[in-house]
Amino acid sequence: MSRVINFGAGPSALPESVLQEAALGLLDFDGTGIGIAEISHRSKQFTAFLNDVESLICTQLEVPPTHSILFTQGGGTGQFSAIVLNLLARHRLLHPDLANEDRVLDYVITGSWSKKATEEARRLGGGRVNVVVDARPYSKDAKSFDNIPPHNTYTFSPDPALIYYCENETVDGVQFSSDVSSPNSFPFHLLPQEGLLPLVADYSSSFMSRPITRLADHAVIYAGAQKNIGPAGLTIIIVRNDCLVDVDAAAKLGAIPVPISMSYKTLADGNSVYNTPPVLPIYISGLVLRRMKELGGVQYFEQLNKRKADKLYAAIQAGEDKGLFKAKVQEGSRSLMNVVFDVIGDEAKFVAGAEEKGMKAIKGHRSVGGIRISLYNAVTEEQTDAIVEYMKQFVSDTDT
Ligand code: PLP
Repeated sequence: MSRVINFGAGPSALPESVLQEAALGLLDFDGTGIGIAEISHRSKQFTAFLNDVESLICTQLEVPPTHSILFTQGGGTGQFSAIVLNLLARHRLLHPDLANEDRVLDYVITGSWSKKATEEARRLGGGRVNVVVDARPYSKDAKSFDNIPPHNTYTFSPDPALIYYCENETVDGVQFSSDVSSPNSFPFHLLPQEGLLPLVADYSSSFMSRPITRLADHAVIYAGAQKNIGPAGLTIIIVRNDCLVDVDAAAKLGAIPVPISMSYKTLADGNSVYNTPPVLPIYISGLVLRRMKELGGVQYFEQLNKRKADKLYAAIQAGEDKGLFKAKVQEGSRSLMNVVFDVIGDEAKFVAGAEEKGMKAIKGHRSVGGIRISLYNAVTEEQTDAIVEYMKQFVSDTDT
């Protein structure tokens, strides 16, 4: 067996030591003689494991007691729908007499995934979508997602049912800064000031890569596991407890009925085992989270991920200076997880050369093209050095 360096955007690389451990768990989970893919989700061994996974997330991200951690299926796309339905139900209970067109859903659009989430809110109805800001007019070509827009361009509604943003745009390589004083941060200071805000963040491709900025101020944070912490099939939701609402009571008042598998309150009341959770992805994610803790937790990965991204962006800049590479995203808005750039000239040669050296999955998303190198937690600094070295070599070989 020989493994390659996988820079894929998701599902993506996982630590080899974890995969080896998981292989043993597939045969015998926790001394039960039953494999993890075969054991009951209500067994005492799996219950203990699930509680441990929850506490590994809770302690590493410092989740306050005001919030619950839920595990479910359906991915980020499932949450595009679930957030709208649960938060419209919450809004209905708070304001039963408001007409639907006066229920506003605020969306910040900084890339392909937040655009998709906005489309789902429009599709479901039950409220009026307000685009707080769309980043495209602020891009270099006035049509691409290449920036976090300036703070003075955001217009939030006074009492929305939800306020939505995507922390890291996986396709476009755009990420909010974690430094709240930066002009590229999410503008928390511009949000309406009263009450508990229905602030929602999609952290699918940056979950556990660094601490969550202003976590306690969020109503819902969600992520698919398949980037930084595990295989596809597991969705993690951190939800503030006032958003665990009785969706059936809201439906009686006219809210859109919520499928029972999407009701946050049902999931929370059932400790995430109301129905069968994705047992195997939870297991592998749990092993990854344990390893993370041993290595120094999310702070360790924040430093590591920053170093990796700095090296890669420096290599792009060096190629840009020679007219061979072009970073796609404006400075200050660049993702630490998904690094995107164009090769000026022979892109196919660049990709083929990398593949020959065992570095795979570096092509950009089919909707935007170019190169995308994803640097999730399991990508090591040595692997990053290998692609940086290759890029230097490509530049010096081409620039003769
Ligand atoms: N949000 C972000 C930021 C993503 O990167 C993705 C998938 O890559 C999704 C949402 C959709 O997730 P899923 O494919 O799990 O439905």
